[in-house]
Amino acid sequence: MDTETAPGTAAGSYTAENPSPSPYQSLQAGSWVKLICGASYQDMPTIRRLAMLYALAGADCIDVAADGAVVAAARQGLEDAVWLTERLGDRKASALANRGLPWLMVSLNDSEDPHFRKAHFDAAHCPPDCDRPCEPVCPTAAIQFRSASQGGVKPDLCYGCGRCIAVCPLDRIEAQSYMARPEAFSSEQLVQIDAVEIHTQTGHQAQFEQLWQRLQPWRPHLKLISISCPDHDRVVPYLQDLYNLMAPLAVPLIWQTDGRPMSGDLGKGTTHAAIRLAQKILQAGLPGHVQPAGGTNGYTVDKLLALGLIKNTPSASYPDFPPSGLASSQSGGMASHGSVLVRNTISGIAYGGYGRSQVLPLLDAIDYELQPWLGNASLNQPSNGQWGSPTSDTAPVAPWQRLDNSALGQGLALAQQLVNQLKIDRHFLPTRYG
Ligand code: SF4
Ligand code: SF4
Repeated sequence: MDTETAPGTAAGSYTAENPSPSPYQSLQAGSWVKLICGASYQDMPTIRRLAMLYALAGADCIDVAADGAVVAAARQGLEDAVWLTERLGDRKASALANRGLPWLMVSLNDSEDPHFRKAHFDAAHCPPDCDRPCEPVCPTAAIQFRSASQGGVKPDLCYGCGRCIAVCPLDRIEAQSYMARPEAFSSEQLVQIDAVEIHTQTGHQAQFEQLWQRLQPWRPHLKLISISCPDHDRVVPYLQDLYNLMAPLAVPLIWQTDGRPMSGDLGKGTTHAAIRLAQKILQAGLPGHVQPAGGTNGYTVDKLLALGLIKNTPSASYPDFPPSGLASSQSGGMASHGSVLVRNTISGIAYGGYGRSQVLPLLDAIDYELQPWLGNASLNQPSNGQWGSPTSDTAPVAPWQRLDNSALGQGLALAQQLVNQLKIDRHFLPTRYG
């Protein structure tokens, strides 16, 4: 698929004539896009910039680790996006001006889960002549050596993908699992969170129920519940059990079909497992929205189009959402009008490693470009929205005034290319994926 779009060109632009839907409306229209920063990823400066770029690009949701500092960094990124939107005007980022902020989601686990683990090893126990295949295979540069016998994994940068574990010839790297605890959030932090995702696995009813009960204080604040589950022979009856346990819901419900976890940046074929599971859940007719994740990448939309799994209707108008009388055990917390209850198409896509890898190489340059407007606030810590102005007489030209020639413009174009595959381009794309 040709996804080349020069920064600043019209393909990635929203205009006043083409207003973006709210996250609720995106779910209804089948154009919901979520960026997954990583359930274990805690690199605050990167999360802040990812949230900023994908908010500007029109994403509906930013999914982050259940960690108060990470949530604050993502919120800061959303504030940065608002600040930049005012400067960008209607040239690149009116998606945000028209629709408001994406929702902020945190991910929790009801039991041991590969998304909730960190790799660990001590280089002092590694042979000095090891070629260190663990180091280059890490997608986030979390493995760092100061010398042959000094180094290991930087926990904040590790999101548990397991690639280093697979390549270590001596099995020196262990995975340390943990449970993300909702009790770790204060009531002040709770109000910053719009949505929660529970990672579960077939057969874990008891663990799920326990976590669901512990989430009772959260539920009145939430706009959305997402359940992430990998495939299994008994996955459909399991998810039906979970639905019965949660119903009635006052908010929309997403089934996140977790195909091949944390693999979207590895190649074209990683998208198949998530799509297969999405088909299975759609065919089962479970109440709720279906959204693939885990291996999704730049080929996912074409593949879904080829299978007829994307709603292919004009998005010029969107139904009001949520409608009155929403919460009923029959509706699953979804709109009770239109064709919402009978779904045969996905409601959106979540991108993890692929979405991050599109813009990660540009983040340092974007920080450098924005630094003069940050005053003394370091990009390594939240600046509480206190953006300054360049103080020198020879102030640089702001990146938003030269988008076609800036890392900010490039990053924004790349993020928009991905987001717009489902939001705009799908109406024009032929099915080109074999
Ligand atoms: S390769 Fe994956 S699991 Fe290993 S340190 Fe890097 S992010 Fe963590
Ligand atoms: S590959 Fe294994 S043995 Fe070699 S440096 Fe990495 S952790 Fe140590």
